[in-house]
Amino acid sequence: MNVSASRLLIALALIANNSNADTQVDPKLALQMLNDQNQLFEQQVVQVSENVFTAVGFHGANTSMIVGTDGVIIVDTLRGPTSASNAFNALRQYSDKPVKAIIYTHSHGDHTGGASVFAGSDNPAIYAMKKFGTATGAGRALAPIMALRGVRQFGRKLPPHEVTNRGLAPANTIDHDGGNGYLPPTVGVTSDGLIATIAGVHIELHAGPGETDDALFVWLPEEKVLFAGDNFYQAFPNLYAIRGTPYRNVLNWSDSVAAMADLEPEHVVPGHTMPIIGSVAATGALSDYSEAIRSVYEQTVSGINLGKSPDLISHEVELPAHLKDKPYLIEFYGTVPHAVRAIYAGLLGWYDGNPATLNPLHPKAEAQQMARLAGGTKRLSKKMRRALKDGDFQWALELADHLKWLDDGDRQLAREIKIKALRGLAAREYNAPNRNYYLSYANELESGQLSEVWF
Ligand SMILES: [Zn+2]
Repeated sequence: MNVSASRLLIALALIANNSNADTQVDPKLALQMLNDQNQLFEQQVVQVSENVFTAVGFHGANTSMIVGTDGVIIVDTLRGPTSASNAFNALRQYSDKPVKAIIYTHSHGDHTGGASVFAGSDNPAIYAMKKFGTATGAGRALAPIMALRGVRQFGRKLPPHEVTNRGLAPANTIDHDGGNGYLPPTVGVTSDGLIATIAGVHIELHAGPGETDDALFVWLPEEKVLFAGDNFYQAFPNLYAIRGTPYRNVLNWSDSVAAMADLEPEHVVPGHTMPIIGSVAATGALSDYSEAIRSVYEQTVSGINLGKSPDLISHEVELPAHLKDKPYLIEFYGTVPHAVRAIYAGLLGWYDGNPATLNPLHPKAEAQQMARLAGGTKRLSKKMRRALKDGDFQWALELADHLKWLDDGDRQLAREIKIKALRGLAAREYNAPNRNYYLSYANELESGQLSEVWF
């Protein structure tokens, strides 16, 4: 079965299996889905159109080569020189003309760190948005926690038997030289965009804020190829990343993808995953994607205005029925409930408007009250074990988190239950970041390397 037929079957199975839009399914189905998703980043060069070649699967992201009359243009450069050099060697089978330009679709390291390999001694112009780099500047003070949560989201330390993928990227990538080939941009693109002829190729760069504020997309009007950067790929968009990110402007994201669809491309090259070939599929995917993002935003805003909390709205918002069976909207990477919470916090901050949550009890005081309510710490402990046995893993986790605060609680037992419950949730999970996070955390707990704060 080809990739899209198998993805369509999976989408249909999900609709039958999972009406309330979470990402927990039967463990066998979860694993099959993640294995099928691997086909979207198997290592290969795809000829997208007469003069466009995309190297998929040489690292997490894609790098593309546009062949012109007397040179080539490179769109994105992967994370580091080793992966860039592997991809460039493969692309060089199709043209050995000098590199006249490099374009960064945005400033994330998996798109910029291998530039020096492509530049070689050709001294190409390097195009990016004028505000390039604004996406990565804020993180220095948070480096310790970003590193810890990033490792979990991407499953970087998982043993082989727990590895699946990263949703949009293979599980294993060459990362030791990340960023070593980075070259700064030499041409800044304003929000009005830029039209140029490079190596005889007419090319348009359009501002496209979304995943990052410094994103652009690339349009080749003659071959009708669109390079979307990370505002489009074949999975529900990561409107929020659980490794921790500032608010990603969701409305801008939807608008940028709508602007791509308006160009009616014949082919779309995503920042990650396989290109989509053919005008109906390419334009349709972009317009569906934009609509899905906007719908999640609008449903969230309408819930907010009714005074609902993010906890509640995140359980209510769903993709519109006609978008649920779209393979490129399956929640392999981003999820709808996480997007809802991000939109809520991005627009209104942490407070849900309920006076009961203005000044909640200290977690220890709450745990003591819960134990009293349960009829004592021992009974609470029993309920926790029962929840695990019943496969009610989320509830088991929540009870374990209460138990850890209780002076007369069995901390060791709570920890063991938590580890098992995390593995239970992971087995059913087809969202790769969630699955990787659950498994990584379980392993950290088991190895005893986590501080008391994490329990
Ligand atoms: Zn990326």
